[in-house]
Amino acid sequence: MGEKGVFDDILAGSDTFKYYSEGEWKVSSSGKSVPIINPTTRKIQFKVQACTQEEVNKVMESAKSAQKLWAKTPLWKRAELLHKAAAILKDHKKPIADCLVKEIAKAAKDAATEVVRSGDLVSYCAEEGVRVLGEGKFLVSDSFPGNERTKYCLTSKIPLGIVLAIPPFNYPVNLSVSKIAPALIAGNSLVLKPPTQGAVSALHMIHCFHLAGFPKGVISCVTGKGSEIGDFLTKHPGVNCISFTGGDTGIAISKKAGMIPLQMELGGKDACIILEDADLDLASSSIVKGGFSYSGQRCTAVKVVLVMNSIADSLVKKVNEKLGKLTVGPPENDCDITPVVTESSANFIEGLVMDAKNKGATFCQEYKRKDNLIWPLLIDNVKPDMRIAWEEPFGPVLPVIRISSVEEGIRHCNASNFGLQGCIFTKDINKAILISDAMETGTVQINSAPARGPDHFPFQGLKDSGIGSQGVTNSINMMTKIKSTVINLPTPSYTMG
Ligand code: NAP
Repeated sequence: MGEKGVFDDILAGSDTFKYYSEGEWKVSSSGKSVPIINPTTRKIQFKVQACTQEEVNKVMESAKSAQKLWAKTPLWKRAELLHKAAAILKDHKKPIADCLVKEIAKAAKDAATEVVRSGDLVSYCAEEGVRVLGEGKFLVSDSFPGNERTKYCLTSKIPLGIVLAIPPFNYPVNLSVSKIAPALIAGNSLVLKPPTQGAVSALHMIHCFHLAGFPKGVISCVTGKGSEIGDFLTKHPGVNCISFTGGDTGIAISKKAGMIPLQMELGGKDACIILEDADLDLASSSIVKGGFSYSGQRCTAVKVVLVMNSIADSLVKKVNEKLGKLTVGPPENDCDITPVVTESSANFIEGLVMDAKNKGATFCQEYKRKDNLIWPLLIDNVKPDMRIAWEEPFGPVLPVIRISSVEEGIRHCNASNFGLQGCIFTKDINKAILISDAMETGTVQINSAPARGPDHFPFQGLKDSGIGSQGVTNSINMMTKIKSTVINLPTPSYTMG
């Protein structure tokens, strides 16, 4: 397959893209489009269709009828198609990565890594699905008091129907396939509503599934502003499961959605607790990588450092030295720090920074901003009355809170509304495990920064950080239901044999 022209079908003009319904690329009858602003140039880069409610209805209808046949397609064939899509996705990493650079200002090499990781996730999911879904259970009744051995129960996993996937802007390809692949391998059909910033990368990814030859209606993609079509989608009676990743929007969706399974991966305020015996070189590099990769726009970014007083000066010095080496600039140049996704995000980050300044925090660097580009900033001596101690900046600014006991660090971590991940740096494994037990977060990393991957590890947030658990196996299980068939035998006479 030649590179040139592969994505021509998805274009509706030089910079406008179609949506994907009933196995075809279409232009919306709304006649309206949604602009995607390049975070670096702050100019319109692309446009996507503003889909109408009627178009959503049509997508749901075709998803519903396609799912019935898809569920009956042998599991190995479903896996084969996913492997094919994964290979096509990886073959086209360059044009997809170019979109990520322009839409969400992801550094070029990280954008390519996201596409390859996504292909790997799809393949892994196909393999895991064959294992997980190929197994059922056999139970006999006489293990429960009062029962004879007269009932044999056979269980298997069946699909839910239509899964609605809504990912956020920061990993529009990876966090789409982390929902698409488990849904499809399990025999569901899938409707994607990509984030507006990231929609064009997602449409390219969807085209790779189209090229793989999935039956019409099994996978669809509707575009439009979440604030405009979001409610219609999430409350749609055709939807049987919602897998959402994003911010507080997820909390609102969970209050509005009907009686359907929800997988919610929401925000975080991941704490990094540094004990007195920590390896400060390791801790400082993990803080810089964990806090500032993709300019801090990661759910599992280190979002607050809680460091013991006695080592705080040394740690802050080491972090500052490393921050001084980060490159700042456009994503095309593979800079470490690139513009944040929108002007309103930059304004929000600035609000948190100024609040900390006004309340007496120490700035380790001069606060510097040009348009959406914010230079990396470590804010020391942050106190609990400052917003940045609790809120998620989603930008390259990191607060440091000095603590006089480990308990104080754990208390701060547990007082947060969020409970996604956390990390501890110490050489004492016993202490690390005790602290991990005490931290109210879905995952605790010992001697490394928080992270979502590898993608088959369980990944979940407590409190306002989410509902359910993902990771390849957990997502497949979440997108299925157990079906039982019970064989009732005649009452035994006990004379047999
Ligand atoms: P967001 O504003 O919550 O948007 C997420 C998605 O929801 C987008 O696709 C958005 O579409 C859509 N949306 C908006 N309003 C909607 C509505 N009323 N109904 C249905 N969908 C709606 O989040 P974001 O700014 O893209 O992402 C940043 C947040 O995601 C951070 O809080 C971060 O921590 C979190 N995150 C969490 C994880 C995790 O695994 N826990 C991973 C990554 C990111 P539009 O773009 O069209 O508005």
